Amino acid sequence: MKEIERSRGDAVALLQALVRFPSVTGSEAAIGGFVAEYCRRLGLSVEIVEAEPGRPNVIATWDSGLDGPTLLLNDHLDIIPPGPLAAWTYPPFDAVVVDDLVYGRGTIDTKSGMTTLLVALSAAVKSRLAIVGKLVLIFTCDEETGGRLGMQHLGRNGYLKADMAVVAEPTSMRVEIATKGRLGFDIETTGTATHGARPWLGHSAISDMSRIVLSLERLGSELAARPHARMGRPSLNVGTIQGGTVPNMVPNWSRIEVDRRLVPGETREQALQQIQVEIDALCEKHPDLQATITEKIWWPGYEIDESEPIVAVASGAFAKVVGRRPKIGVKDAGTDASWIHSLAGIPVIMFSPGDGLRAMNADENVSITDMMIATKVIAQIIADVLGR
Ligand SMILES: [Zn+2]
Repeated sequence: MKEIERSRGDAVALLQALVRFPSVTGSEAAIGGFVAEYCRRLGLSVEIVEAEPGRPNVIATWDSGLDGPTLLLNDHLDIIPPGPLAAWTYPPFDAVVVDDLVYGRGTIDTKSGMTTLLVALSAAVKSRLAIVGKLVLIFTCDEETGGRLGMQHLGRNGYLKADMAVVAEPTSMRVEIATKGRLGFDIETTGTATHGARPWLGHSAISDMSRIVLSLERLGSELAARPHARMGRPSLNVGTIQGGTVPNMVPNWSRIEVDRRLVPGETREQALQQIQVEIDALCEKHPDLQATITEKIWWPGYEIDESEPIVAVASGAFAKVVGRRPKIGVKDAGTDASWIHSLAGIPVIMFSPGDGLRAMNADENVSITDMMIATKVIAQIIADVLGR
C-alpha cells in the first residue's frame, strides 16, 4: 500500500502513456508491445499470442513455483474510436490532466483499469510480496468487437486456466458479477431501382426498412416490459442505417445494424426468432418486402453466484482499503468476462474505477483518486489470494 501511495505520479504517467496509444480495435500492436515490455521489466515471463498478425494478446505470468491458486487479471488493449473531434474539450489522445481528472478516449474503458493492474503488479513485485501459485495477466485485443481474435481465441485454444479472475472493466468501483448477453445483427432490405422521376415504377428498400425500424421499436418496448430481477430490462437498439445511392434514384437497398441485449432466460435463437416473426408479419402486409437477417456478434451473458470465493475476496479487499463493503452489481454491456466464464468456466468479477455508461461519450475522463483506490483493491486481492 505504501508502494502504491508512492507511485501516484508514476501511475498517472502510465495512464497518460497508455491513452496516447490510439489503440482503436485493429491497432493494438504498439500498446501490446508497451504492456509486454512493462511486464518483462518486472520479471514476468511474457507470451504474445496472435490469431492474426499484428493483433497481439499479451499473457504475462508470475509463477511462484509453489503450489497454490492461479489468479487471472484481465483487461483489453483496444478502445472505441473517439467520434467527432469537435465534441472533445481536450484532444482524445492527449491525456490532459485537469485537477483530479485525466481526459481522453479509453481513460474509463479501460486504460485506467489497465493502470490499476500494472501498478498493483509493480507494487507487489517491488515490495517483494511472497506469493504461492501463479498470477497471470492477460491483455487482449479485439474486445470491443466481440473478442474473436482476443479472449475467444485464447479460450478456444487452451490459454485460460485459473481458479478465479478479475476483469478491470469500469464498474464505478462496484463488484460486478454478471453481464447481459449481446446479439449484434444486420438487416438488409432489397427493392427495385428506377429513375427518381418515376418512383411508381420502382420499389423503395428505404420505405421497407422504415417499416422494419418501427416494428423493432415496438418489439423493444415489449422487451422493456419484461425485466429480469437482477439484470433489468432486455433491450434492442437500431444503431446505424444506410441505404440508397443518389437522391434521383429509387433505392434498391438499405441496411441497419441492430444491438440486442439479452437477460438470463433469453437465448440467442429466441432473440433471432423474434426478429424473424416481426419481419414475417410485415411481409404478410407488404408482399414485396424482402429482408434478410445476418448475425454479426454473439456475446453470451454470464452470471456467477454471490457465494463464489472471488466475490468474497474482492469484497473483503475493498473493505480493507475503503472501510466499507462494496456494492455488488451487474453490467449491461458485454465484456471479456463472458468468455472467461463461458469458455473456461472460471468464476470472474469485474472491478475498476469509472462509469462504463459514460465511457462512450466525448470528454471521457477518470478520477485519479478513484484509480489509486482501485489499484490498492487490486493489490489487496493479489495479496489475499496468493500471499504466502
Ligand atoms: Zn471495455
